Amino acid sequence: MKRVSNRRDFMKGTVRVAAGFTAGLAAAGRTASGSGQQPNARGVTAVIPMPIQVVIDDVGWWSGHDGSKQQEPYRTGIPRDHVPADYEAIARLGRLLGIRPQAAMILCEWDRNNILRKLPTSTWMGANWDNSKWVGPWLEEAADIIRSNSEHFEMTMHGVGHEYWTDGKFTRAEWADSNGTMRPVDQVEAHLDNFEALLNQNKLGPLPVSFVPTAFLHGFGPTGGHTMSLAEILGRRGIVYINTPFESMQNRAAVSHGVFGFDAGVITIDRGQDLMDWSDIGKTPAGQLQGPTCGLHWPNLLHTDPERNAETVDGWVRFLQPFNSAMGTLLAANSESFRTQLVHHVCTRLTLMDDGIRFDFAKVDILPRPPVQHELILKLRSPRALNFTSDTINVTPEPPTETEGSHQYTLRLSRIPGRKEAQLSFAARS
Ligand SMILES: [Zn+2]
Repeated sequence: MKRVSNRRDFMKGTVRVAAGFTAGLAAAGRTASGSGQQPNARGVTAVIPMPIQVVIDDVGWWSGHDGSKQQEPYRTGIPRDHVPADYEAIARLGRLLGIRPQAAMILCEWDRNNILRKLPTSTWMGANWDNSKWVGPWLEEAADIIRSNSEHFEMTMHGVGHEYWTDGKFTRAEWADSNGTMRPVDQVEAHLDNFEALLNQNKLGPLPVSFVPTAFLHGFGPTGGHTMSLAEILGRRGIVYINTPFESMQNRAAVSHGVFGFDAGVITIDRGQDLMDWSDIGKTPAGQLQGPTCGLHWPNLLHTDPERNAETVDGWVRFLQPFNSAMGTLLAANSESFRTQLVHHVCTRLTLMDDGIRFDFAKVDILPRPPVQHELILKLRSPRALNFTSDTINVTPEPPTETEGSHQYTLRLSRIPGRKEAQLSFAARS
């Protein structure tokens, strides 16, 4: 179970948060583009679409066993071991959709040298940690898939052993207790050091720039008398982005922008609710996404027979593809463009006129950490084919699609640094 509390508490939290979430998105619609923009006199509508990012938790286990009844981690709960093909499934999802899914990794079962003996809080075996069972050629095979698909596989930090062990028993979870209060700073730092060492052992690259808290136990800002928040500690190591459901986040009322807020300069984005239960395997996705994150657990993307993983992946491709063609949404190409687009979706004020669109970026530029990227995407629909021009923003249109007699444009815009406003003109093609 990746969730925090018992089912009743969970449901209780869900209702409260679902309300907050809707409010957040509705507010975005008023102050910015959102969706539901009224057409101008020429029937043109325009929107800064909400980006969607796929985040997959608990990647990295080799055992699928849910060990929670034996003081072992929850792991993925599937009835088989994990295999390199389970990594290929993530890369396939990315390739087919042109995205870079985030794989939130747990790395203890990648420990080739039993270094975790020196960090007894990180595993169920404590000082007697022995991972020799999981040291084999599959490590290098999986690492090779990760490295050779870097455009379609983003390593994200999840944890070392997922829970936190003292005297042979675990409590939830690795980075924070069941209230979302951060673990002792020296322990947090040691777990980070060891996560990085496990990456190095396996040549999996530097510490990722994004983070998903285990069991979604997290505090926004400092917790429990600590002077620093977890976000601040992570930020010092180069992490710029945290993704977690706000329903289980301590101090969530301090979030500034509904679906996101900044904690010591680290953007923290609401995961909302997943479409599937954490242990569902081989199912076809259905239902509504409630916000910008499409959260999964690894089994949700897999099949009990790994040779048939592609069937499950292709179900997700069919489910997600329409978000790219819809007016109000898009699938973010990677996590940086996701964060940038989300900030513009919520904060950029868009004014639609009869012959153009005015952009006001003031609320973006005063954020604690404005986006580094200058690019954003606008979608526009018109009964007539249009030409676009601007002196104040660079515009690259993609070939339009025709739907129900109207032309739908996806425009890649690039801000000119220093300009807080921009205007895009359009005219019917003669
Ligand atoms: Zn997890």
